[in-house]
Amino acid sequence: MLVDSHCHLSSEEVYSRLDDVMNRAAGAGVDYMLNAGGLFDELPLQLEICRKYPNVFTLTGVHPHNATAYAGITAEDVLKNTDYHEVVGIGECGLDYFYDFSPRDVQIKVFRQMIKAAQESGLPLVVHTREADDDTAEILTESYQQKPFKGVIHCYSSGWKVAEAALKIGFYISASGIITFNKSEDLRQAFKKIPLQRLLVETDSPYLAPVPLRGRVNEPANVIHTAAYLGKIKGLDLTEISAITSNNFFELFAKAKKINK
Ligand SMILES: [Zn+2]
Ligand SMILES: [Zn+2]
Repeated sequence: MLVDSHCHLSSEEVYSRLDDVMNRAAGAGVDYMLNAGGLFDELPLQLEICRKYPNVFTLTGVHPHNATAYAGITAEDVLKNTDYHEVVGIGECGLDYFYDFSPRDVQIKVFRQMIKAAQESGLPLVVHTREADDDTAEILTESYQQKPFKGVIHCYSSGWKVAEAALKIGFYISASGIITFNKSEDLRQAFKKIPLQRLLVETDSPYLAPVPLRGRVNEPANVIHTAAYLGKIKGLDLTEISAITSNNFFELFAKAKKINK
């Protein structure tokens, strides 16, 4: 069994041929997927995908790219969506200072509301962070001290500071296709240090196709390449790393476990 812990099935490139994508995922042994979705208001579309494919779970939240459009959102707005049994976590959310599509203070304000929703619901927070190591580490640490919550750093590609802060508060760390890229030696060294019980794998489909598929539209079936590569880093074969990361996924996303196990 393998779980793609983060993909975007409603993105145009994937959604337009979703039946084929799902067939290839099944063929590759990718039994479950967490669809991180798109805009906060597109939840009906994400739910429709979950209902068509019961092995797909989804999230509710606001991506930092869209923070401006949802600058006034509150934790309560997000919590309303968590009654759906298909919604197993809060996100994706966080800080992206690489693209800076929304002003940083607005990104932070929205991120804090997402954290509050995770604190109040007990659902895991799915964190996106890019070029925002200091603020991400500080906000997570300080919020956790106020009230604990669970979560994952998705598509981890930050400096060690973020991993260290995340591990300290019990977070999981998810490996994407980036670990297979030539230039990612530092990242591979970081993954060597992350305990096995805290690792997840993901595609972040349609982005970040792993070697040997770089440049193509990424899809959940391809998580097998990233898992195999992560296994190599950790000295495990594909079956072992698949079992461990799948088990970790259901430990973190306990609401998903209730539905499917
Ligand atoms: Zn992301
Ligand atoms: Zn994403």
